Amino acid sequence: MIRDKRDGRVLTDDAIRFLVRGAADGSIPDYQLSAWLMAVRLNGMTDAETKALTLAMAASGRQLDLSSIPGRKVDKHSTGGVGDKATLVVAPLVAAAGIPVAKLSGRALGHSGGTLDKLESIPGLNVSLSIEQFIDQVRRIGIAIAGQTSDMVPADKVFYALRDATATVDSVPLIASSIMSKKLAAGADAIVLDVKCGRGAFVATLDEAEALARALVAIGTNAGRETVAYITDMEQPLGLAVGNALEVREAIETLSGHGPSDLEALSLRLANEMLRMAGAPPIDLRRLLSDGTALRKFAQLIDAQSGDSSVAREPDRLPAALVQRPVPAGESGQVAAIDALEIGLAAKSLGAGRDRKDAAIDLAVGIVLQKKVGDAVGRGEPVATVHARTDQAAQEVASRVAAAFRVMASARPRPLLLRRVTASGTERLDA
Ligand code: URA
Repeated sequence: MIRDKRDGRVLTDDAIRFLVRGAADGSIPDYQLSAWLMAVRLNGMTDAETKALTLAMAASGRQLDLSSIPGRKVDKHSTGGVGDKATLVVAPLVAAAGIPVAKLSGRALGHSGGTLDKLESIPGLNVSLSIEQFIDQVRRIGIAIAGQTSDMVPADKVFYALRDATATVDSVPLIASSIMSKKLAAGADAIVLDVKCGRGAFVATLDEAEALARALVAIGTNAGRETVAYITDMEQPLGLAVGNALEVREAIETLSGHGPSDLEALSLRLANEMLRMAGAPPIDLRRLLSDGTALRKFAQLIDAQSGDSSVAREPDRLPAALVQRPVPAGESGQVAAIDALEIGLAAKSLGAGRDRKDAAIDLAVGIVLQKKVGDAVGRGEPVATVHARTDQAAQEVASRVAAAFRVMASARPRPLLLRRVTASGTERLDA
């Protein structure tokens, strides 16, 4: 199989199943799996191979059966970015509209954030639910957000660790099979994907993002799950806050109808798509934000998972950093760029993210932007605030954040929603 992939041949479904079984049960050594992954990274896979790989990975462990939850279940997934707290808004918003949301999420890795870490900044909140607790909670209150149990998709855990260490992460068939195997095993009937595109994302160019979106949609559709992918901008962070508790606070503001306009627009778009896929009649989702319904659903989720739901009314109860240091603009003009990767790495260096899967993170620290691309700024006016443990950390990171901003005489805001990719084609949203 290594030789076949090395020489550009197409593998049979049986061969792929053998390989995935061997990865999951440890019978194929890491060095052979790594060589095979590199051959895939270099020579790619056909759609049929990618589908076989995904299905075999999904079947390598426990798969959820959500059929005891009434209605059509729609899942949401982001490929990962900086300041992306959209799940914390979209999931309660969709549940508040009466559509059940059974969401398995991941943790931060590298410069990108993870929903589970963000949720854990809410005092007491438990994301380690058994599958029975998870399903029971969705049946009771219409929403649960938890981590995948260790017996789900074990082949992905093996492949992902090897890819991380062998420069084979950035491969469309490997990313697509990794994401979609977990989505298929999670049991939803339909899937909305947010494929991030730009400096702060896994794929930097629109061409790569389109290739990834098409692969994800093809796999989901072939597996009998309606799948729609949005390609959205990740050149600058999403919203204003980057860092776990800071992002939860921003999600609460957005759930109250007072969030940053880009985060609100993305959340409404994804939530409307999920409602359509669930077969629900269109409703005014913005009203569920402004009248408190969505925020009450979030508080109910926190309560059900043993968290302190008073944070929904009093976000000051979230962990806060001792030091807050403004970052002044070096010149006057309009913000032309905010390097999302640099902001993500700067937040991580404060302790908001982790280098290794098991490292501890600091839930309070991060960066809050005051300006976004297209905004006017005067010399010396703050463009961001660094939230840090110590003065020294704040000072170091402030200069890094300042360098991530580019100010020019004039600049326009960046479009956020770029493409909508479905089984029948690609629609431009930024035209
Ligand atoms: N997210 C995943 O789960 N897997 C990848 O390979 C990339 C992003």
